[in-house]
Amino acid sequence: MTHRWGMVIDLDRCTGCEACVVACHAENNISTVGEDQAARGRAKHRNRVERYYEGDFPEVRVKFRPVLCQQCDAAPCEPVCPTYASYHTAEGLNGQVYNRCIGTRYCANACPYNVRFFNFYNPLWEKPLHLQLNPDVSVREVGIMEKCTFCVQRIKAAEVQAKAEQRELRDGDFTTACAQACPTKAIVFGDLNDAGSEVSQLARSHRATKLLDELGTLPKVTYLERDSWHDGKND
Ligand code: SF4
Repeated sequence: MTHRWGMVIDLDRCTGCEACVVACHAENNISTVGEDQAARGRAKHRNRVERYYEGDFPEVRVKFRPVLCQQCDAAPCEPVCPTYASYHTAEGLNGQVYNRCIGTRYCANACPYNVRFFNFYNPLWEKPLHLQLNPDVSVREVGIMEKCTFCVQRIKAAEVQAKAEQRELRDGDFTTACAQACPTKAIVFGDLNDAGSEVSQLARSHRATKLLDELGTLPKVTYLERDSWHDGKND
């Protein structure tokens, strides 16, 4: 059976701690840009936690929403790439072939979720951070566009392991770095083609919504709205 990898993020559980962001940086060899570049609005994050404020001090309420590549089935980034660097895999992932990317950034302009970033300079790895680079992930250089791939290196490693054990790859054999790091288990990753998987069951929840659903991009990331929002109350 072909897998169809997907993710559910429960906004009722997310505390905005950003452990998922740090885990993504560590897993995928993403450098930090530093204070100067950040002040110019330049950032390198495959996953960002958006904050929304409601009310006036001292009755301020903060809501969080982690936003990463939505792995759309009708992805606007794919048809605009002149070199087919952004493409759809057989398992429904939005792949990104770094060796093909020539940095036109058409894909980033087409993405309504603003989840792609351009490597605007070669990454710097201050000692001892150079010792923690993940050998399963390439280090991208200047001129390359990149974004979340649901930790495709973990998917490939799990496939190899399952093959060595002469069995099918199963839901739950592995998870993404962000889901593994989340202390509140707000992020659930798995196989949407497995009707019994946790991610499939949660995606059918009455709280399930898609980000910018009206655009018709068919995301494979589902958000579970907070119960109070779903009921139209501010609790
Ligand atoms: S690690 Fe979990 S709780 Fe923390 S910001 Fe990410 S999704 Fe939210």
